[in-house]
Amino acid sequence: MTNSTQLVVIGGGPGGYAAAFLAADLGMQVTLIDEAPDPGGVCLYRGCMPSKALLHVAKVLTEAREARAWGVDFGEPAIDIDRLRAWKDGVVGKLTGGLGQLSTQRGVTYLRGRAELVGPTAARVTAPGGDTTDLQFEHAILATGSRPASPPGLSLESDRVWDSTRALEVPGVPRSLLVVGGGYIGLELGSVYAALGSAVTVVEMTAGLLPGADRDLTAVVARRLGAVCEAILLETTVAGLAEEGDGVGVTLQGPGVERAERVFDRVLVAVGRAPNSEIPGLERTGIQRDAQGFVVVDGQRRTGEPTIFAVGDLVGEPMLAHKASHEARTAVEVIAGHKTAFEPAAIPAVVFTDPEIAWCGLTEAQARAEGRTVHVCRFPWAASGRAMTLDRPAGVTKLVVDPESEQILGVGIVGSGAGELIAEGVVAIEMGATVSDLRLCIHPHPTLSETLMESAEVFFGQSTHVYRTKRGR
Ligand code: FAD
Ligand code: NAD
Repeated sequence: MTNSTQLVVIGGGPGGYAAAFLAADLGMQVTLIDEAPDPGGVCLYRGCMPSKALLHVAKVLTEAREARAWGVDFGEPAIDIDRLRAWKDGVVGKLTGGLGQLSTQRGVTYLRGRAELVGPTAARVTAPGGDTTDLQFEHAILATGSRPASPPGLSLESDRVWDSTRALEVPGVPRSLLVVGGGYIGLELGSVYAALGSAVTVVEMTAGLLPGADRDLTAVVARRLGAVCEAILLETTVAGLAEEGDGVGVTLQGPGVERAERVFDRVLVAVGRAPNSEIPGLERTGIQRDAQGFVVVDGQRRTGEPTIFAVGDLVGEPMLAHKASHEARTAVEVIAGHKTAFEPAAIPAVVFTDPEIAWCGLTEAQARAEGRTVHVCRFPWAASGRAMTLDRPAGVTKLVVDPESEQILGVGIVGSGAGELIAEGVVAIEMGATVSDLRLCIHPHPTLSETLMESAEVFFGQSTHVYRTKRGR
């Protein structure tokens, strides 16, 4: 059976469903394809949402334990893993079911199956049962996402070696857990298992956690993680993995490693993600891939094949859901004939550790690497009344400012709720705000948002709650 449709979207994640929904809103006839029962992709089924649900549980556990210091003792929390898992799965079910309803309400045709490209205007979908549907389209958007990278030295066929998907299923709480990779996933899921009671060791290949993030910010997270983890080993890699007894024998390699051979109950490998760009039939089109396997697109998210666009993790870093959805908006608007391009001034990044770390725009290190002269203002959270009332004084709000124009070029925040606060930085940068703009906006008291206003005051040496902050010091 051959069906005609104006737009085919392959992949139902935040890139794909955002594209399909907007295209339908703009009056296009849309077919969205994914194997899952409802749209959602990695983000909803095995990424953002289940991880954030588990991190919420970790936060409650941590605060229940910390409350002793505030004169409230709940006793040691009892964890029922089956109920915890059921709650997390329920959150995912409600969210993906909601997307299914939104898809139906908009008149998007949702086809369950794997898609292949037959040519620049044709695709074939194989349903889970094996039935096929042929589609003719005017335009297609590829949004097939990414999967956990599994380098040869770290791939052991064993249910004791987890990737993020397996870790999010919470098969149990291992006594000891080795996390390979001190990036987003390693630190978020490592924090979850540490709060649940595992002795967590993190090994990170580079000299610092979260390479690419600002060192002033990661230092705060590293201190806190150092206290809740068994060990954090930097400049360390895993030279070998093998099943041993009930656990996994691991050979560690690195300058700070005292015992190279160790046994852990479970190992979580989180060393990055690879794009799903091996879409069958790609070779029948003019679509190009780069050396890392990302599909090559232009500023409008058009591939080398004029009828086909690509968005999200498939086209490169940063591999973030909100970046995928925004690219989807660009691609759909271009297809609809609007004059637009993907040119964000600031894509926010948030790592939901305790404390959270978030940044947008230029980091201090990036500015220096580009040879730019910048002025950096820091406001320590120990001077924030709100942070003290939350018993969370470990934090910094940092601005990277152009000293001539006084324009804000970058914002970095580490501290409780940094992920919510960073949105103000995005608005400031996108609107070309100066430090005066930020300083002169009245922020509600007592809130953590005041740390943004006060970091702007630091620029002028006039921060109310920090003494001696003259510009240039
Ligand atoms: P995906 O969400 O990967 O969706 C692609 C879909 O396409 C999948 O359903 C896939 O099965 C389907 N597909 C692939 N090939 C085909 C085919 N041939 N035919 C049909 N369907 C196909 N990002 C954030 O911004 N915030 C977070 O807090 C966050 N947390 C994360 C936590 C974890 C553990 C992980 C793994 C990722 C997290 N991310 C987070 C990243 C985020 O999930 C991705 O950036 C986002 O999902 C990318 O969206 P996408 O639409 O490009 O692709
Ligand atoms: P990552 O790139 O964030 O971190 C991987 C880490 O592993 C890096 O620090 C890297 O230096 C290290 N590494 C690589 N090889 C190693 C080895 N052999 N031994 C030890 N360390 C090694 O990747 P990730 O944590 O797998 O996450 C993938 C992507 O998913 C992220 O980059 C991000 O885009 C997305 N994500 C986002 C969020 C969020 O937005 N909060 C959460 C989870 C995932």
